Amino acid sequence: MSFPALFVSHGAPTLIIENSPARAFLAGLGQKLGRPQAIVVISAHWEAPLPTVNAVSRNDTIHDFYGFPAPLYQLTYPAPGSAERAATLVRCLNQAGIQAATNERRGLDHGAWVPLKLMYPEADIPVLQLSLLQGQGAAAHYALGQALRPLRAQGFLIIGSGGFTHNLRELDWHQADAAEPVWVSRFCQWIAAALQERRIGDLLDYRKRAPEAGRNHPTEEHFMPFFVALGAGDPQGLPDCLHQSRCFGSLRLDAYGFS
Ligand code: ZN
Repeated sequence: MSFPALFVSHGAPTLIIENSPARAFLAGLGQKLGRPQAIVVISAHWEAPLPTVNAVSRNDTIHDFYGFPAPLYQLTYPAPGSAERAATLVRCLNQAGIQAATNERRGLDHGAWVPLKLMYPEADIPVLQLSLLQGQGAAAHYALGQALRPLRAQGFLIIGSGGFTHNLRELDWHQADAAEPVWVSRFCQWIAAALQERRIGDLLDYRKRAPEAGRNHPTEEHFMPFFVALGAGDPQGLPDCLHQSRCFGSLRLDAYGFS
């Protein structure tokens, strides 16, 4: 069984404790997809010079956020890791001509464990986290996703976890249901249309071509997991918009599946 590659938006860390459409979506997603053999998460919150995969027997939970409510720091997601599957992943990247490294200590950051704790609350499926490529853009991350594609046929669920938009300075923190600014809508509509029309070249050049790209992503790390997931989908597959919502006005939490 082959799982679609997913892109999910993990929102603020409070997503896991506060009811919202995005939380409800993620909470139902694991059951909808079924149970994979293993999960590979590419989160916005880990960048490394070489693609690096963690190879641990059990994942620590990293609480990599500050100033949030105390209960969030008590949550854990002690999913098993797998050195053997990490080696499979490294081999897979090597076969595509991509050098890769392993890290024998690192656990899961909140970009990984927040969605997973909602999707697969039992924490009993082996999880690997793979880093982003520090300082590299959409094309390199798309190529990384392409290299991961064969793993889908081996029962791996590949999840890119970031933000469909991510400009923390422009969030309306005090108003979860604030209206969506036009500069956000324009960007999201352009991305959605480019996906439906499979204009991959335009998407990879989104920084120049998408309206308000720089305002929606002042830095690129929260959008790079999207390109990993896109690359891991089949070249001819149609993207499946799994979820659309927003919070704090400008933070879009859309999710896509790439079969
Ligand atoms: Zn984040």
